[in-house]
Amino acid sequence: MELNKLTIKQAHKGLKNKDFSAIELTESVLNKVKSQNNSIHAYLTITEELALSQAKITDKKIANKEEIGSLAGIPLAVKDLILVEGIKTTAGSKILENYIAPYDATIIKKLKKSDAVVIGKTNLDEFGMGASGENSGYIPTKNPHDLERVPGGSSSGSAAAVADNQCIYSLGTDTGGSIRLPASFCGVVGLKPTYGRVSRYGLIAFASSLDTIGPIAKTAEDIEIIFDAIKGKDEFDSTSLARKEENNINKIDIKELKIGVPKEYFVEGINPQVEKTVRNAISNYEKAGAKIVEVNLPHTEYALACYYIIMPAEASSNLARYDGIKYGLSIEDNSLLEGYLKTRRQGFGSEVRRRIMLGTYVLSAGYYDAYYLKAQKVRTLIKKDFDKVFEKVDVLMTPTSPTTAFKLGEKTNNPVSMYLTDIYTVSVSLAGLPAISIPCGEVDSLPVGLQIIGRQFDDEKIIKIAQKL
Ligand code: GLN
Repeated sequence: MELNKLTIKQAHKGLKNKDFSAIELTESVLNKVKSQNNSIHAYLTITEELALSQAKITDKKIANKEEIGSLAGIPLAVKDLILVEGIKTTAGSKILENYIAPYDATIIKKLKKSDAVVIGKTNLDEFGMGASGENSGYIPTKNPHDLERVPGGSSSGSAAAVADNQCIYSLGTDTGGSIRLPASFCGVVGLKPTYGRVSRYGLIAFASSLDTIGPIAKTAEDIEIIFDAIKGKDEFDSTSLARKEENNINKIDIKELKIGVPKEYFVEGINPQVEKTVRNAISNYEKAGAKIVEVNLPHTEYALACYYIIMPAEASSNLARYDGIKYGLSIEDNSLLEGYLKTRRQGFGSEVRRRIMLGTYVLSAGYYDAYYLKAQKVRTLIKKDFDKVFEKVDVLMTPTSPTTAFKLGEKTNNPVSMYLTDIYTVSVSLAGLPAISIPCGEVDSLPVGLQIIGRQFDDEKIIKIAQKL
């Protein structure tokens, strides 16, 4: 049995039955990582020592006949934008090449409490800025389904690691699509939670009004287990949200379900084969008794422009802290100013610099009203589109991306064509809603993802609906 191929559910059962130990499971994953990392480049750091010491805890508990939780002893990979105490955390950037995290992110604290096993830190587009994984400040990750193709980004390594069985599950972050898109390109399941349902404390900030952390796994059942362990209000994140009843839905009756299919997501530019695959998946829900309704989200066409104003504005402000003085790369020069400039010029990659300039521009006096303020108003309109359709339907279903995974290098010279990859994911981010991407078929042997979008706080519901596919 190749233990690294198991799901969380299977691994948990095996551990409880003593079919294998947590150490054996961890070693099987580590061996896979070591044999593959030179070709896939899913990991930036492998934390073997930490992993084995954590695995031991679970084995001890089992030997002592203690109860173990459903994530105990199970290896996970963590996007290198999330702090794990004592471990290098680079954000995929040269500017943080030497940065050791001084504390655990809340999400890591929670998982450690569940006796999780951290295998390593995964590759990403620098600070989360990208849709292909090619903006990593170190090396691009490759798609395990086809090494000439991108895995999708920015959680490139987290999705590739799951798809290639180099972990049992992983954590990614999603600001405009970075969990859903790579999950779709790699043929795995990824959840972008409702904004605020998972604490961002200990996440390196990119665009704070959009950033979310979420799980990537092999099945929607596993996603439910992870989400259960990581959700909840956190006193260290003032934007995290309390839920009175934690929304625990046990059953979904598909016959009662009204599914909205937004017209604007099936227009020119979508690969016809992808459209067919996604429509086919939706029709399976219809066959099971769900009601399918065509709906309109009229402001969809402004979402990408709106995102590419708000996101860089926030990023330019968040990234101002990397000055070579407090932490990270530091290039000294005769004058302090020259030191700052050189540090930032050498430390940041070209996409990050592009966004800092864009963000600084849209926030500057004279342009603020024309761009930033306008974009905020459009954001409200996009949110209202969703509010309106959710009066009529329970969930929305769309493709996660208009295409399957593209070739490495195909879009690197054309930022706008790269930005267009996010056309189906950014609206959800602007509206703060939960969405899950689940594999629903293949086109030319490449995975296609179905995106299920829910009302605010309906994370559990969309996970359950995804499980029915
Ligand atoms: N691809 C999008 C961007 O480059 C989304 C990134 C993300 O969600 N982190 O901004």
